[in-house]
Amino acid sequence: MNTAQRTPTPEDLDTLSRQLGRPVRDVVEIGARCVCGNPLVATTAPRLGNGIPFPTTYYLTHPVITAAVSRLEAAGVMTEMTERLESDAELAVAYRRAHEQYLAARDEVGHRAGIGDVPEIAGVSAGGMPTRVKCLHVLVGHSLAAGPGVNPLGDEALEGIAEWWTADRCYCAGAWDVEGAAPARDLSRHTRTQGLSAHELAAKKARRSVSKESSDGDDAGAPQTPAGGVIS
Ligand SMILES: [Zn+2]
Repeated sequence: MNTAQRTPTPEDLDTLSRQLGRPVRDVVEIGARCVCGNPLVATTAPRLGNGIPFPTTYYLTHPVITAAVSRLEAAGVMTEMTERLESDAELAVAYRRAHEQYLAARDEVGHRAGIGDVPEIAGVSAGGMPTRVKCLHVLVGHSLAAGPGVNPLGDEALEGIAEWWTADRCYCAGAWDVEGAAPARDLSRHTRTQGLSAHELAAKKARRSVSKESSDGDDAGAPQTPAGGVIS
């Protein structure tokens, strides 16, 4: 994809959060898109905003594809693939090349995101590469982001889900909840108040009323009882 297609828009991030049912973080690019333009794969920075190294670059987000890949996993495809890697030298070589490409692509993502090298995860890819198959979602995410011919087992898994999903069609309608607000930071901010002590809540409330006087800001972060009343 070109830079414009890769760059996530606010709408893309909203869609990703709806697809996953939680707010997304540290997504720096869209790895693959549906024919309609919706994200299929979120590309996460190799170092998260909190500093933690993150080896799994491509994350499958489209519910139709993730469910289809889960069916393949449940059918025992990963064991069968891992056994073939031990007996089929040609496949093993191609899979190792996929691993190397994954690492190179992740380096590029890191540099485009301004993060640079992440030595902690040098040589570590994902999904079991280069010698095993531990997560088909990872391999399919890689195949969708890299295009056909890069990850042989990701490509195979994509062929394996063809009765449920193919790249030439849009399966987005009804695939995730589009009503109401997307899972967002506001929700996580609210969640954060759950673990606070009474003292911390009182301090938070005091800060809010100060800012309210100056800006008449909303009180979306106010701790609520289950009945909706504000805790006093
Ligand atoms: Zn679509």
